Amino acid sequence: MAGRLPEKLREKLSLRLRYYEDIGIREFFRDRKPPAGLESPLERVVLQTVVSMSYEGAETLKESTAPPLLITPIPKIGEGTLQTIREDIGDCIRCKLHKGRTKIVFGDGHPQAKLLFIGEGPGRDEDLQGLPFVGRAGKLLTQMIEAMGLRRSDVYICNVVKCRPPENRAPERDEVAACSPFLFRQIDLVAPKVIVCLGSIAAQTILETTRGISQFRGQWLEFRGRKLMATYHPAYLLRNPSAKSEVWKDLQKVMAELGLEVKKKSAQTQA
Ligand code: URA
Repeated sequence: MAGRLPEKLREKLSLRLRYYEDIGIREFFRDRKPPAGLESPLERVVLQTVVSMSYEGAETLKESTAPPLLITPIPKIGEGTLQTIREDIGDCIRCKLHKGRTKIVFGDGHPQAKLLFIGEGPGRDEDLQGLPFVGRAGKLLTQMIEAMGLRRSDVYICNVVKCRPPENRAPERDEVAACSPFLFRQIDLVAPKVIVCLGSIAAQTILETTRGISQFRGQWLEFRGRKLMATYHPAYLLRNPSAKSEVWKDLQKVMAELGLEVKKKSAQTQA
């Protein structure tokens, strides 16, 4: 049935479905009928389509290694502001991470930054302060940004998940699936020229891959028409300082793309 819908209507449906997903509605029931006359024609089609999509996709979703998203992310939601997204997140209980959090770590920085960094998820310091990358790894990230000739306030920094995973473990698939629609909206709204994924969780989420980051780190990739570079996470660099030179090479490529003066060496990041 979905295949027979006109293109425009499919686009509207995708937007509407994405909206439902963003506000946490993921299940639709065949027998839930709105009071007669209350549903709009679009809503009627949405309900019918979702029912048919979820039935047709049931087997594939079970076997798939992809996050259990109801629909494929759409190219752009050009409405709202970062504040609207934050309000849509609200006092979120969409996944189990809410149980252990102190503060939601939404994101920080310039709302129209040309450069956007994506990390994995808040750690202890971030959870307490409600700001991304303010702990030890964050200090290193700040040094890296400054070594690029920028200030932290020039760029936008956010994470795949917005609540701290217990014991700083990697976010799980259901947590990433619950939170990533907000990340995608943040990216669309900030509309950066370049995205830098810090570490494998960020890169794998954005690129929808299970490949290890070392296989594609340092290469120019693309996300929804934007240039994307994946590099090692600053926390990894704290444990493996020798990898700093690799990251610096990646950041130099980013600097060239942004028209920033590429310096030969940075004492701070090479130290
Ligand atoms: N590590 C991350 O991935 N994000 C933060 O905000 C802090 C540490």
